[in-house]
Amino acid sequence: MITIDEWKERLESEKCYDLVCEIYDRIEKSKLNAYITLCKDLALKEAEKYDKGQKSGKLAGIPIAIKDCISTKGIRTTCGSKMLENYIPPFDAHVIENLKREGAIIIGKTNMDEFAMGTTTETSYFGVVRNPYDLSRVAGGSSGGSGACLGGDEAVLALGSDTGGSIRCPASFCGVVGLKPTYGLVSRYGLIPYANSLEQIGPMACSVKDLALLLEIIAGKDERDSTNAGREFKFEYCSKKFKVGIVKEMGGNEEVNSRFEEAVEIIKNMGFEVGEVSMPSFKYALAAYYIIATGEASSNLARYDGVRYGFALEELDSWTKYFSKVRSLGFGEEVKRRIMLGTYALSAGYYGKYYLKALKVRTLVKRDFESALAKYDLLISPTMPALPFKIGELADPLTMYKMDVNTVPINLAGIPALSLPAGFIKSLPVGIQIMGNYFEESKILSFAMDLEKVFKEVF
Ligand code: GLN
Repeated sequence: MITIDEWKERLESEKCYDLVCEIYDRIEKSKLNAYITLCKDLALKEAEKYDKGQKSGKLAGIPIAIKDCISTKGIRTTCGSKMLENYIPPFDAHVIENLKREGAIIIGKTNMDEFAMGTTTETSYFGVVRNPYDLSRVAGGSSGGSGACLGGDEAVLALGSDTGGSIRCPASFCGVVGLKPTYGLVSRYGLIPYANSLEQIGPMACSVKDLALLLEIIAGKDERDSTNAGREFKFEYCSKKFKVGIVKEMGGNEEVNSRFEEAVEIIKNMGFEVGEVSMPSFKYALAAYYIIATGEASSNLARYDGVRYGFALEELDSWTKYFSKVRSLGFGEEVKRRIMLGTYALSAGYYGKYYLKALKVRTLVKRDFESALAKYDLLISPTMPALPFKIGELADPLTMYKMDVNTVPINLAGIPALSLPAGFIKSLPVGIQIMGNYFEESKILSFAMDLEKVFKEVF
């Protein structure tokens, strides 16, 4: 894994052009399938500019990988779907504008579950992403490519998106750091939507320090996203001994739990005050998430009609036949399943029974977090309940959905949460999740920075 400091050190004596070529050589030989689209010519041109002293900014000359649901002007953006196989956005997402302003070099667009629906990147139209620590296993999802490219030295930074865990899961499975920011901190302008009320673009990196810098750059005001909170983010390290709560309802299998318990012991020994909190609403959170997320997805994905852009058919038919055919052929199985689930949950006869109930649960989840975070500065849990799965291991959808049990409550509430590597079990990475109050990313990052140092020595 390459940190910004390591990259900068090499830039002192080597050409950026050569270093970027080295990254592409690695990607071209790689078996990870982390990228859908590479933009080598563009990236090398930018690297040359850096070598000529024509690039400035906080990320000048630093290679970054972008999840393929984030719009990049002139660079194909597929969202992992056949539906957008040839789509080239005519504009940049807000976060891309910011990255360019700071001199970052975009390496390519990373592989992901189709429309970010999944936990393993197995639903991508462009094939599964493999785990950098074991090629027979998944890299997590839906930002699997962003996790794998960092774990496999194929980028220094990456962007992901997180609707119900899609940054934290691959961060945990690939041994990197990933953060889902507070809802509204990072503009969603240019993010191809899956479930608007839940998702955020967020940073992924090889160290907490790099993650904090990337967050500072992508966060901020943007009037083009009406849910944007209109605030900037500046990381302020805080050495306070926070009060940390273990969430009783969040856990994992035996292996994961035993590592989590070891981590808790370390946290106590570092002088943090640790207690336990109970979140009674969490037993309904997963079900509520899958109703809200699929409901929003069913309405968001109605725009893919094969007329305005994206996958289209040569032969024209009546509107309804054409529309059905395009959507049957353009979407994969999981996306269709979710459109049907969501349409059902929102339908006149079932709206009250499912969707409205799910919204009520959402309020309860928020309240549980609010009361827990009134007592504790931060909350912790394992990020994922299991180690990275074998490819194909999670055969049925429900088993897959259940893997999101620790990550989805965060999105329902809109609070920030980070996944931090806590070493390896059987040579596979494990992550712990650190949650905090709205807009208190600095507390989370400070705590993560302290833990990172110790975890690296101990695990
Ligand atoms: N696994 C969850 C889902 O499929 C989360 C995905 C995400 O965060 N984009 O909905």
